[in-house]
Amino acid sequence: SVSVNQIAKGYGETAVLKGVSLDIRDGEFLTLIGPSGCGKSTMLRILAGLEQQDSGSIELDGENIDGRRPAGRDVAMVFQSYALYPHFTVFDNIALPLRMQRLSRTQRLPVLGSLMPARKSIEQVIADEVNQVAKMLNIDHLLQRKPGQLSGGQRQRVALGRAMVRHPKIFLMDEPLSNLDARLRVQMRAEIVALHRRLGVTFVYVTHDQAEAMTMSDRVAVMVGGDILQIAAPEELYRNPAEIRVAELIGSPK
Ligand code: ATP
Ligand code: MG
Repeated sequence: SVSVNQIAKGYGETAVLKGVSLDIRDGEFLTLIGPSGCGKSTMLRILAGLEQQDSGSIELDGENIDGRRPAGRDVAMVFQSYALYPHFTVFDNIALPLRMQRLSRTQRLPVLGSLMPARKSIEQVIADEVNQVAKMLNIDHLLQRKPGQLSGGQRQRVALGRAMVRHPKIFLMDEPLSNLDARLRVQMRAEIVALHRRLGVTFVYVTHDQAEAMTMSDRVAVMVGGDILQIAAPEELYRNPAEIRVAELIGSPK
């Protein structure tokens, strides 16, 4: 589990996170919901190690991870923009984290280490892993294309695949569906929930869409202005919003 303790972060004069505390349970689908600018992406970036908090601490399975670089955190982030490399094929985009692991010898190699049989080359191990993930995401027929030759939903899957090959303990997803049209968004909701069930690991999902939050999540954390106002299961939030701002965000009849 992850224990987030009193995380504060500001840029210049502006306080963006005002002492956020949060326990993230193993295997849960936790959604952070809140209006634009409330600090959702900042919170995710701090969890990922892409940014440092001003104060407060984060523990992963009881160990403080504040000093750890992103690669040492057992987390993988899926960005709103997907952040794919346009000149790489789909295959190479998904393989990238595996190739980076190979380059830094001091790091653990969770995938390569465990799967490496004597007679297989590293490239073969990488190819097996990429193919397996691509099959699971239904993009195995697109591996030789470039991102520019894909639809939004297909790009989304590639971004998911690139996170999956790392076998992280925690997936961090920052509004991964916001670039998709309404129909595809609804379809991908179901697919991400199915992926969560199948992988059985922790998902921390960011959105400002209350339908996504209420239909996908085990628990929802409602964020406003750098604070978490309430964390609860969707039904509980709906029936017993702690205050009017929660009710407004998740559509309670209060
Ligand atoms: P959205 O739903 O629009 O993505 P968000 O909840 O993800 O919003 P953040 O991106 O975390 O919001 O930003 C929170 C606040 O911090 C915003 O007011 C934003 O302008 C500010 N902010 C974020 N990054 C920086 C930065 N690098 N420098 C200065 N201010 C920043
Ligand atoms: Mg954001």
